[in-house]
Amino acid sequence: MNLSCFSQSYAQARQAFLASCAQRGLAVESHIHPLTGRDGEQLAIDVALHGNADAPNLLVLSSGCHGVEGFCGSGVQVDRLNDDAWFAATQRDDLAVLYIHALNPYGFSHLRRVTHENVDLNRNFVDFSQPLPDNAEYRAIAPVLLPKKWPVGSGNLLQLLGLTLRYGRKGLQAGISRGQHSDPKGLFFAGSEPTWSNLRLREILRKYGQSCQRLAWVDVHTGLGPRGYGERIYKGKQNADDIARCRRWWGNAVTNAAEGNSASADLNGTIDLGVMAECAQAQYTGVTLEYGTLPGKQVLSALRGEQWLYNHPEAPAAQHQLIKQQMRDAFYVDADDWKQQVLEQAKEVMEQGLAGLYS
Ligand SMILES: [Zn+2]
Repeated sequence: MNLSCFSQSYAQARQAFLASCAQRGLAVESHIHPLTGRDGEQLAIDVALHGNADAPNLLVLSSGCHGVEGFCGSGVQVDRLNDDAWFAATQRDDLAVLYIHALNPYGFSHLRRVTHENVDLNRNFVDFSQPLPDNAEYRAIAPVLLPKKWPVGSGNLLQLLGLTLRYGRKGLQAGISRGQHSDPKGLFFAGSEPTWSNLRLREILRKYGQSCQRLAWVDVHTGLGPRGYGERIYKGKQNADDIARCRRWWGNAVTNAAEGNSASADLNGTIDLGVMAECAQAQYTGVTLEYGTLPGKQVLSALRGEQWLYNHPEAPAAQHQLIKQQMRDAFYVDADDWKQQVLEQAKEVMEQGLAGLYS
């Protein structure tokens, strides 16, 4: 497999995606972000449709929901676009394949997991007209999680260990990561209104997602689970028929956070909720394709450090650079064996999604 589909910056990744689309003669619709990137570059969600807009089958491949995780997902998209066999297999009158590049372009460029609003886009699809869910565990954990000083000393690490004993490893992970609405400067903040990316995704779906009868979605993420393993995490309603169909398509290895067998906790406000709401006419079948990178402790430490940096912009340049490097390393393994594993599994998952649509 050709590993040149992976990039070293958002700007490079965007150029690679646009070039691959141009090579295939696909028009790209760009939703320009109001802010600029790390190197002053333009930021955008770029969307390319291969096929008929009114086809009954729609297969979506999306990247960069969690900003910095886009290094992986963008590489996967470019690899699929460049693959002649894949392109030929998806060239059908009754099919459209939608490539959504960099759902959260700001986070991708600035090496953040969250959006420019400090919001976790994959927790932001809640009904803001209703009372927002409370996360009492998060509020209890936050003072330890978000220390005044970085790096932390041994006292903070002991406190974190104490919290792990109190809540259990899974319980602590759920409290930290399932989403919280109480602290706009905290981790896994789910927002107080729909973010820019949330609104743009809904626009995209109102344009491309209204004719399909069957909708398959693969959303690429990183940062959880064993290094290089692509966990297929069920996304959709907790309904036995939908879960069974997802496992027929993608195999019994499909996990479901609600069943407690996933590396991920059960989350609030994930994007599939927005997709199902906007494309209510379609039968939705989707997975998060979640690739492991570094051990969980290191990933959490990278997230905590980066959140500290966000709240302490006065940090010295050298520390800023170190924290951002650790952040990138936590969500993108810049090694050939990892990239190879990523592409092989993504190829299989996309082929299974395609076959599933016609099963
Ligand atoms: Zn993610």
